[in-house]
Amino acid sequence: KRLVVLGGGESGAGTALLGQAKGFEVFVSDKGKVKPKYKDVLIHHGIDWEEEQHTEALILNADLVMKSPGIPDSVPLVKALVEKGVEVISEIEFASRYTEATLVGITGSNGKTTTASLTHHLLKNELNVGLAGNIGDSFAKQILEDDFENYVLEISSFQLDGITDFRPHIAVLTNITPDHLDRYDYKFENYIASKFRIVENQTKDDYFIYDADDPVIAEWLSNHSIQSRPLPFSLTKTIDNGAYATQNEIIVTIDNNQIIMPIKKLALDGKHNVKNAMAASTVAHLLKIRKQTIRESLENFQGVEHRLENVLRINKVQYINDSKATNVNATYFALESMESPTIWIVGGQDKGNDYKELFPFINEKVKAIICLGVDNEKLMATFGNMVDIIVETQYMSEAVKVAYKVAEAGDNVLLSPACASFDLFENYEDRGRQFKECVRSL
Ligand code: ADP
Repeated sequence: KRLVVLGGGESGAGTALLGQAKGFEVFVSDKGKVKPKYKDVLIHHGIDWEEEQHTEALILNADLVMKSPGIPDSVPLVKALVEKGVEVISEIEFASRYTEATLVGITGSNGKTTTASLTHHLLKNELNVGLAGNIGDSFAKQILEDDFENYVLEISSFQLDGITDFRPHIAVLTNITPDHLDRYDYKFENYIASKFRIVENQTKDDYFIYDADDPVIAEWLSNHSIQSRPLPFSLTKTIDNGAYATQNEIIVTIDNNQIIMPIKKLALDGKHNVKNAMAASTVAHLLKIRKQTIRESLENFQGVEHRLENVLRINKVQYINDSKATNVNATYFALESMESPTIWIVGGQDKGNDYKELFPFINEKVKAIICLGVDNEKLMATFGNMVDIIVETQYMSEAVKVAYKVAEAGDNVLLSPACASFDLFENYEDRGRQFKECVRSL
């Protein structure tokens, strides 16, 4: 059987290797350039590939196609494959066909990486567990090379768009706010439906962990029935089966078996991280991790780079890198968690952002705004009258220097852009690293 892999990145290269090992004749095709590290892998394994083109004659004869998440369904080649009746799936779907491992699938608009990393951290002392999906080595490659008994998978909506049978034993949905609408015909309901595909193959032996305070999730659940057992978490109400938080504690209960954790000892700050901790500890409790291990692991988790990452303290000013905040909702939680006056570095490529929900935090906590990106004009117009100091620049080094000048002892300098990074940077990691370098060289 011929497996064609569209896209020669992490998930494409991993799928090619696993496909070859499972007896497929594999062909990898990438419209752009394939990164040297993946080229080397393909060449080393004798896998056919092409770059900077899609040769239709070599693609349309596929028996199965794995499409990388970055390629929209709307491109003519994908449409032609679907019309021909060729099955087009995602890497998560392909790889999960070749493992019997217990799968924890984590999706949502924000908090996927944090929750997946934290969950993996809670499980790893007592279980043989891999962390895959949008993080680190591809799921396919790990199945081939590591063959873990359990996987925690970070799953984007694009991966869910390409599933048929994928069935996580435990599904986690962190929240749903508008994002990536360009890929969903600008219809929020299509994006919501995509996220809920995480539960579509679940049975009554499976579990669904979700944020009960999220109005979009609540609305969907009131109109649909699911097979798996629901385990909600909430910051606002008591939950008998699932998790909730009081002022001081997180309480997770499954079948009357309760675990209680003090919030002030959590390694990660912010209300959103209390939610992430509730989701992760519910998974750990379900998988029978010892209560003491869960508590200790919540306390010693190191955090994830570019997510409210503490960089340095200089002259009693805390510099925080939240470059991964690429939408307004992520920045909302960053500003909400600030406990001192904040100098806010914001901006990049605007995604049709509506900043209204941030206004209370600007009035309350933000003393200066530094706009950094192509769409500064909109930021200046939106926030110009709300703070005494607002400046704009196209350089990270200048943004950091201005912040340094304005900051006084006790302040925070927060990079939380609420925008995409592709205007001035390669990606959000590049943006975060440049920020950290500039801070370190102050
Ligand atoms: P994702 O992988 O879904 O993009 P991340 O864990 O990388 O999510 O976090 C992305 C951004 O969202 C970061 O700025 C982070 O501080 C913020 N964030 C993390 N968890 C949540 C949450 N539960 N709700 C809202 N924002 C969150």
